[in-house]
Amino acid sequence: MNNECIFCKIVSGELPSSKVYEDENVLAFLDIHPVNPGHTLVVTKKHFESIHDTPDDLICKCVITAKKVANAIQAKLNAEGVNIGMNNGKAAGQIVFHSHIHIMPRYGNDSFKLWQGKSSNPEERDKIAEKIKLGLA
Ligand code: 5GP
Ligand code: ZN
Repeated sequence: MNNECIFCKIVSGELPSSKVYEDENVLAFLDIHPVNPGHTLVVTKKHFESIHDTPDDLICKCVITAKKVANAIQAKLNAEGVNIGMNNGKAAGQIVFHSHIHIMPRYGNDSFKLWQGKSSNPEERDKIAEKIKLGLA
């Protein structure tokens, strides 16, 4: 538990939330400022900052929960699509530095835009792919 962290306070029950799922490791609750109604956050119960320091087994549990929530959103809120995303680091738009995954219900007419791609060329892509591969080796 991090005493400064808003999601730790939600996990401990010190702050209220609209919970949709809870188990030993993971909590899912509704985002206070949703892209669309039903926008859900899946968090690790233990405090980690982002994907980078979250243990593999816990991030896997979060992803499995995100899939369950996505299925429920599709079935019960009649979502036409679901975006699943994670902001890691300030430059990526992370505001709450407690590891979490967003599950966002989408509708054809909701006009929400997640990102706009830039143009690229095959040489540039191959060069960047080589750099990333070095980090994976
Ligand atoms: P981030 O940009 O860090 O990935 O997203 C943090 C998310 O947490 C935002 O979508 C924001 O609306 C949500 N959020 C921030 N504070 C609270 C809170 O106190 N309760 C709930 N339920 N969601 C919050
Ligand atoms: Zn925390």
